[in-house]
Amino acid sequence: MTKVRFAPSPTGKLHVGNVRTAIFNYLFARKAGGQFLLRIDDTDVERSTQAFEDGIRADLTWLGISWDDTFKQSDRFDVYGQAAEKLKEMGLLYACYETGEELDRKRRLQMANGRPPVYDRAALSLTDEDKAALEAEGRKPHWRFKLSGNPVSWDDMVRGPVTIETSSLSDPILIREDGSYLYTLPSVVDDIDAGITHIIRGEDHTTNSGAQIEVFEALGGSAPQFGHQALLVGADGGKLSKRMGSLGIQELRDEDGLEPMAIMSLLAKIGTSDAVDAFADVDGLLEGFDLGKLSRSPARFDPEELKRVNAKLLHSMSYETAQPRLAALDADGGEAFWNAVRPNLEVLADAKAWAQLVAGPVTPVIEEADYAEAAARHLPEGELTGESWGEWTNALKEATGRKGKQLFMPLRLMLTGEPRGPEMAVLLPLLGRETVLKRLQGETA
Ligand code: GLU
Repeated sequence: MTKVRFAPSPTGKLHVGNVRTAIFNYLFARKAGGQFLLRIDDTDVERSTQAFEDGIRADLTWLGISWDDTFKQSDRFDVYGQAAEKLKEMGLLYACYETGEELDRKRRLQMANGRPPVYDRAALSLTDEDKAALEAEGRKPHWRFKLSGNPVSWDDMVRGPVTIETSSLSDPILIREDGSYLYTLPSVVDDIDAGITHIIRGEDHTTNSGAQIEVFEALGGSAPQFGHQALLVGADGGKLSKRMGSLGIQELRDEDGLEPMAIMSLLAKIGTSDAVDAFADVDGLLEGFDLGKLSRSPARFDPEELKRVNAKLLHSMSYETAQPRLAALDADGGEAFWNAVRPNLEVLADAKAWAQLVAGPVTPVIEEADYAEAAARHLPEGELTGESWGEWTNALKEATGRKGKQLFMPLRLMLTGEPRGPEMAVLLPLLGRETVLKRLQGETA
């Protein structure tokens, strides 16, 4: 069975870049009828916080991304310890005693001599006595995984054939001097134990994958299939700009007031061969989903495009979907109200202003008293309907000789107090005869 995971570190908030990885994994699992696991990569106990973890879960839930299972790495240190012992026994995990400064010095020297700054494996030739002497000095070992030095190749679901020359990599440190784990080993152990079949993540992990494939094989698993998607860049092709909040999901929700499906729609489609569109639900996104459609060049994230998708989504959003949210905003004016105002919305909260416009009180702007009187006189009889606006303005045109802006703008100002707003033809029946007449008389209603 297909099983994928999204593995954020709770050392920060979800943002458009890392949530895109969650979206791809989620859609991949749903499309395959498989499972989506949420793993919290909190081996860095200093920087991980419960608040970030809670925030990640809340943001994913808000986006409509649910998981079949979840766990945190900090609950599994003993399992990682066993895996580390196994690697030590195999001679694949070796103790190193260099300090950070010593490693830095080595790197600088290598570079000065025109060589790549790859760890020289000096620690491999330490004898037991050497190690005892170093420990007597008060040094504690960190532990490196011994790479094979062979090329590691795989057929990447996004990038096609990839080869990593492990001979050009430093043996990765799996365990720090203080005994804490870096991400490489726990991730592999968890992926094996959870039966992960596909690893979909950002291309900043491609080199890691080369090393991790060797760790998978050393621990007796075969590596899952990999897909490394290109990262997001800003609209201008440069680094993601921080103009729109911090591009954090929480800011997009709480400050910018955007729809979860707008974010889902855009992030699932940019950088693919599909056109970006506003999808009302995940099922719509699933239809054309295919990692093979992802481009290998970075996807451009444009906050303006996100706003456009958001508006488009609202313009076709059903009343049923909008209703609970409108109620929460105190802007639920019923279905006819929603249908009238939604083409004017950029964000759902804009509906509040329209609700106030309908419910009042509105202070009319009356610039010509005689036009207000004429307007009241020519208002069609009976209940106002979708036809009333046309009938009314035709009658006024005939009676006053006005046309265009002169005919329409004063009516809008008198009825709404604003120079812009929803289509008057739709608004008129929402206001109702009584309110219309009051406002035409200059009454705040
Ligand atoms: N915690 C890692 C990260 O956020 C997970 C990478 C992976 O998916 O394996 O980069």
